[in-house]
Amino acid sequence: SIVYLNGDFLPVENAKISPLDRGFLFGDGIYEVIPSYDGKMVGVNGHLKRMLNGLTEIGINVDKSIADWVSLCEKLCELNHYGALGIYIHISRGTDTKRHHAYPEGITPTIFMMTFEIPVPSLPDSKTAKGYSLISTEDLRWQRCHIKSTALLGNVMHYQQGHEAKCNETLLYNNKLELTEASSSNVYIVKDGVVITPPLDNQILPGITRDILLAILREDGSIKIEERVVTLEEAKNADEIWISSSSKEIAPVTLLDGNIVGDGKVGEVWQKAATLYSKNKFNY
Ligand code: PMP
Repeated sequence: SIVYLNGDFLPVENAKISPLDRGFLFGDGIYEVIPSYDGKMVGVNGHLKRMLNGLTEIGINVDKSIADWVSLCEKLCELNHYGALGIYIHISRGTDTKRHHAYPEGITPTIFMMTFEIPVPSLPDSKTAKGYSLISTEDLRWQRCHIKSTALLGNVMHYQQGHEAKCNETLLYNNKLELTEASSSNVYIVKDGVVITPPLDNQILPGITRDILLAILREDGSIKIEERVVTLEEAKNADEIWISSSSKEIAPVTLLDGNIVGDGKVGEVWQKAATLYSKNKFNY
């Protein structure tokens, strides 16, 4: 595949980064993943804004406009022959001359971009959709989960817990037994027809899929939404649970800690919401 590194497009085999890069030494960087289907990106502005917010928050300054980023993304999709792609952007603070914690002055950020294949979304169908299985565990990551940091060890360790339990994802709750998110997704429950999702704060990533889904549901108006604290107990008694991310879109969950969710079938509210998402996502 063709990747982008510091101004050049080149085969991935030829892309080289110094071991003194702070992304390698400290996980000192911000990343982003933007879904693209046959060259049409979903939520590109939201994704890029979140990335720029993250860079500002950690004091990395990159001399590129939103339009510059969009054209790099478009070019990379073209060079990788389109299809269903996740566009990965990784910006580290740059390469230092020694290993030292403080932000070095005057180094140039390292910019790396690649694409990877993502599933081609099919139209949501509750009869054939595969229900996800989750295990739940206490969220032991850091308290700045709104920053899309390349330092993902906390998320990786939680994801692995689910993987080892033969589940698809790991649902996380804080020490007050309130849901935060999953290790690589946002979470929603449905109770009596109302979609409820944890509010944005430092405990979760402000997911762009979440943002777009909520905007679409508000625009449609037929499904009630609440952004508020959701307890683990509420999740256990929910009619439906969903998780969302750019590559899986809105995914229905039918098993939580080995117990069926609701009646154990993919839910009706999911069917409706996921259909609205798939019909309207390209407007965002
Ligand atoms: N939370 C976490 C921890 C994630 O890693 C991700 C996606 N990578 C999400 C939520 C979903 O975000 P998005 O919808 O922007 O892909």
